[in-house]
Amino acid sequence: MLPTTLAQWQTYCQKLSKEGRAFIQGQYKAAQSGKTFDCINPANSEKIADIAACDQADVELAVKAARNSFETGTWRDMSPKARKQVLLRLADLMEAHKQELAALETLDMGKPISESLSVDIPGSADVVRWHGEAVDKVYDEVAPTPANVLATVTREPIGVVAAITPWNFPLWIACWKIAPALATGNSVVLKPSEKASLTAIRLAALAKEAGIPDGVFNVVPGFGHTVGKALALHKDVDSLVFTGSTRTARQLMIYAGESNMKRVWLEAGGKNPNIIFADCPDLDKAARAAASGCFYNQGEVCVAGTRLLVERSIHDAFLEKVVEAAKSFKPGNPLDPATNMGALVDTGHQASVLDYIKVGSEAGATLCLGGKAPTDTGAFVEPTIFSGVSNKMRIAQEEIFGPVMAVIPFDSEEEAIAIANDSDYGLGAGLWTGNLGRAHRVAKALRAGSVWINNYNDGDMTVPFGGFKQSGNGRDKSFHALDKYTELKTTWIELG
Ligand code: NAD
Repeated sequence: MLPTTLAQWQTYCQKLSKEGRAFIQGQYKAAQSGKTFDCINPANSEKIADIAACDQADVELAVKAARNSFETGTWRDMSPKARKQVLLRLADLMEAHKQELAALETLDMGKPISESLSVDIPGSADVVRWHGEAVDKVYDEVAPTPANVLATVTREPIGVVAAITPWNFPLWIACWKIAPALATGNSVVLKPSEKASLTAIRLAALAKEAGIPDGVFNVVPGFGHTVGKALALHKDVDSLVFTGSTRTARQLMIYAGESNMKRVWLEAGGKNPNIIFADCPDLDKAARAAASGCFYNQGEVCVAGTRLLVERSIHDAFLEKVVEAAKSFKPGNPLDPATNMGALVDTGHQASVLDYIKVGSEAGATLCLGGKAPTDTGAFVEPTIFSGVSNKMRIAQEEIFGPVMAVIPFDSEEEAIAIANDSDYGLGAGLWTGNLGRAHRVAKALRAGSVWINNYNDGDMTVPFGGFKQSGNGRDKSFHALDKYTELKTTWIELG
């Protein structure tokens, strides 16, 4: 029986084991230096666990384990069907451990327990199951060559994959990387964010229990400038897959160029427009979606609709609806099942978000809602809405990665498209209209990897996810994700 009250969750969490060591060659190991760092609960600033502060030496061990397992072929040479069975077992185990994984996620990064339980953990298991199920349905190609030649185009695993992941959906985004990497026969070293490592570390033991051979899946916790950098510069890493900020993404391209030209696949930041035309068929639905599209997960979402573009003729009435809808997000104890908005990941990030709110006010935008930390303890920030924003302001150009919405008026379709595309980023975009021609026209004109029409941020495993421009390259999810984890080989056979 799942806990149903705050008190029950608190009791459960006190007893919960919180493993913080690295997982290398099938075993938990302390950092070779013996160093650790504190894992802090952002809702109350209390220490939860010690996390191994790994460094170059631990990365060497993990990459060696991954390389050896790849070369011996224990996993790579298993039939796709056999790898599928292991991944399906892993997905089942994740679901069986849903309560534990959800509690670790919520304690570690502050998201509401109701969302960890209903979204993050089932979503993560779904990713593992989808890629497991998909991998024995992928066929190679025979090229249309002349009759005296047979040419095949085959996909092969790339080798050692290093995955560097963020803290906003710690387990889910880790699974976006490791599930297709493992499904296609690679060996993996995962570096979770130093701000939320617990579920990735726990996942490693579940993967072993599911039947992933030792050395095939390793987890090395630690900081970006130590573990992340060592992986990105490592000459025996064949592919680097990343989700995180655009600043780090740029640095990883440099590291790859300075080392072995490893493939680099980047899912980076976003500053996403959500465009409300006056002919939107359901303004109440659009207002609710605009609020949840911006404030869900405390606004710590790469595709959050943080720039709300509203046609001037409906601007004031629509703003009122959005402010009302946003009031339903109330920061509260993340372990309380009734909470729908948790704490930001840490007090450092809270300070950065509050600083952006000051920047918005100083630039002349009008604060319509929120703007403060509601409590003295914990990293909470109220849902915050600015109107009267110009797209040139910093709060419209820079990724705040917190619950802050910038409302920008526009007068025509052309102007809406121009404002929407006036960004370094190109991750997601929404548009709301009842006009079919306009829906197609605007969707085509938007420079974004995902466009949502009359909804915001819907989707599932069947569709690819990733960005244009400085939001990154490559795609997670769907069969398109396989491009990151496989090399294409042409074999040209003279038939005589
Ligand atoms: P971040 O870039 O600070 O950190 C991401 C990861 O990179 C962490 O594991 C970190 O330790 C590591 N890292 C940091 N510096 C490094 C370095 N010099 N070398 C190697 N590794 C390094 O990002 P974050 O704060 O963890 O996450 C928030 C960002 O992630 C936001 O910009 C958000 O938009 C983005 N994000 C993007 C997507 C997407 O799919 N496009 C999804 C979620 C989050």
